[in-house]
Amino acid sequence: MSAPNKSYDPVEVEALKPEQVERMRDEAIAAFAAAGDLEELQEAKTAHTGGTSPLALANREIGALPPSAKADAGKRVGQARGAVNQALKKRQEELEAERDSRVLVEEAVDVTLPYDRVPAGARHPLTTLSERIEDIFVAMGYEVAEGPEAEAEWLNFDALNIGPDHPARGESDTLFVQGQDPEQDSGVVLRTHTSPVQIRSLLERELPVYVICPGRTYRADELDATHTPVFSQVELLAIDEGLTMADLKGTLDHMVQQLFGGEGMKTRLRPNHFPFTEPSAEMDMVCYVCRGESVGNLDRPCRTCSSEGWIELGGCGMVNPKVLIACGVDPEKYSGYAFGFGIERMLMFRHNVQDMRDMVEGDVRFTRPFGMEI
Ligand SMILES: [Zn+2]
Repeated sequence: MSAPNKSYDPVEVEALKPEQVERMRDEAIAAFAAAGDLEELQEAKTAHTGGTSPLALANREIGALPPSAKADAGKRVGQARGAVNQALKKRQEELEAERDSRVLVEEAVDVTLPYDRVPAGARHPLTTLSERIEDIFVAMGYEVAEGPEAEAEWLNFDALNIGPDHPARGESDTLFVQGQDPEQDSGVVLRTHTSPVQIRSLLERELPVYVICPGRTYRADELDATHTPVFSQVELLAIDEGLTMADLKGTLDHMVQQLFGGEGMKTRLRPNHFPFTEPSAEMDMVCYVCRGESVGNLDRPCRTCSSEGWIELGGCGMVNPKVLIACGVDPEKYSGYAFGFGIERMLMFRHNVQDMRDMVEGDVRFTRPFGMEI
């Protein structure tokens, strides 16, 4: 700016010369025009209108002028500052308008777009059906018991009175994780049923034992419309003093009434043989569609039960005393019943599912119609 010098003439202060004031004005206006956004404009504003800007410093010099020169210089600087402020205001308005229109575009919300772009999945019907069955028994005081899917051969077979020569021990049915080693007591298999969880429950819990055991099980089957190498079971075990077949029958009737609802739902038992129960029975439930009325009635055939009136459900029986002894339970004092059935099969007849492959392929179009039942 103006530095004192020997030829200092207050009337001719360098910073107040008309061409200098014009230059300061023009530089300020050019800086505002060059500002690309409000932030840059703020910087230009500080530089050209702030307390240390050239025009502000020039303004201060006016005070040092003789009265005769003050008016002239004051007018010159005042006009320049007025022009600068006007240019600043104009550019400010332009940049604000630009910002507002940009925000309108950038932050626009298209209310016609679907709000939920990630389609909801669904819980697998095998899970919801299994949980529904568990709920029925939990309401009766049973506990849900679970166990490992890779299981000791002893727990999967021997403890259940399935001896080493039993056909189910052959590799054609069972998936071996680790074969029997003479050094070890037991091989490891992918459990072929949830029954080892019953054994674990008897070994680990205080009597009486009332457990429901849901879970995945494995057998060496090819996947096709009616077979799957991975399937789901629910098994039940009740061990107490004085339990009889009548308790088993009443429990089964209660379950099908709760699951299929309405009057007339009941089960029947047909003699069979299983190593782990004695006596053993196949259990059927009355057809929940025709309630048995399609039998012999050619006018009203039933597709669900093929007009047989009954649907096969699974196996059951009174727990074999040999199994109780293997678990350290006194068969003279305690008795009990067990049953088990496949969830896939129940899902097939309950919901008319034709192909087991639909249950394992994980296609949401299969699961979604079953809903989100929790
Ligand atoms: Zn029927």
